[in-house]
Amino acid sequence: MIDENGLAKLREVFGVRLQENVHMANYATMNVGGPADALLVATSAEELADTVSKLWEMNLPVKVLGSGSNLLISDKGLSAVVVINHAHNIRVNLKSNPITVRAESGALMMNVGKKLALWGLAGMEWAAAIPGTVGGAVYGNAGAFGGETCRNLISADVLHKTEGRSEWLCEQLEYTYRASGIKRGTLDAVILSTLFRVERGDSQKISAEIETFRQRRWKDQPPGASVGSIFRNPPDDKAGRLIEAAGLKGKHKGGAVISPKHANFIINEGSASAQDVLDLLVEARNAVKAKFDVELITEIEVLGDWDKLPDFLNPNPDSKAVNQ
Ligand SMILES: Cc1cc2nc3c(=O)[nH]c(=O)nc-3n(C[C@H](O)[C@H](O)[C@H](O)COP(=O)(O)OP(=O)(O)OC[C@H]3O[C@@H](n4cnc5c(N)ncnc54)[C@H](O)[C@@H]3O)c2cc1C
Repeated sequence: MIDENGLAKLREVFGVRLQENVHMANYATMNVGGPADALLVATSAEELADTVSKLWEMNLPVKVLGSGSNLLISDKGLSAVVVINHAHNIRVNLKSNPITVRAESGALMMNVGKKLALWGLAGMEWAAAIPGTVGGAVYGNAGAFGGETCRNLISADVLHKTEGRSEWLCEQLEYTYRASGIKRGTLDAVILSTLFRVERGDSQKISAEIETFRQRRWKDQPPGASVGSIFRNPPDDKAGRLIEAAGLKGKHKGGAVISPKHANFIINEGSASAQDVLDLLVEARNAVKAKFDVELITEIEVLGDWDKLPDFLNPNPDSKAVNQ
């Protein structure tokens, strides 16, 4: 918890921009999560860099969030200053070779995909299926329909905690499947904006492909408040198939349910607590382990202060809870 001294410093530095004791449910697609000690909104890459630099200088725990579409935040909340990233500028450079798009890290991947379609630029149609921001996608190497962030990324404007701000080449982000060095905790950095490579294409064909992806999503994935896929697919299998075969499809806990449509999704039916969601997640993992001896790995991040976290989430093998 940030103490009174820390809060007083925050008030002095950020003035009316500072919000205190803010419920995170409104900032996460699962619609659960207790209060963060403090919250700031950044509306440009410059403001994001300036805000995070000041917080690092003040030695306070910082967590930058995009759409909150890959997070389960505890009911007890988050002992950190949360920075909500609304920097959303997207600029296309048709004269460069290859053609590039510079997107601020708070831009929605969906909007990048759709904007490129309007320009007749191909190669990132898959991005229109991702409900998170560019920063979240670069952090977690988001991907869909055969596309993946690291395959389009040329470089990123990055603020590193000790090395400062510079343009990093894609290789420096140390990508693996659905993870980067930042997510694994080996790089302490915040993404400010990114440079993606795209190519000329046919606007109508690109839009048609995005529509095909949208319909596939609608057919395969359940509607409602969720964080998308809870677990990664293990090699040569599907997490959803395993959870279903373990008999947990449709299982309820409080206001949460393992989706009857796709068992790798947990849906908040309206009144779920974060604990309900966590309980179902743990039950699904235990059932799959008991029946098939497969240890599922979470795709989502579990953040905040919990009474008890199972060993496989504590610490989360793929991330650190707070960018300190
Ligand atoms: C319905 C649904 C469908 C989904 N489908 C897919 C899919 O097909 N493929 C896929 O890969 N994912 C999918 N997801 C998961 C999610 O959308 C992606 O992981 C997305 O990239 C997360 O972005 P975000 O902005 O929501 O990140 P958040 O959830 O806000 O944050 C996730 C992590 O990224 C870090 N982060 C965010 N921004 C920055 C930044 N600027 N600098 C440093 N760190 C940052 C945060 O600190 C946090 O640790 C889906 C989610 C939902 C709800």
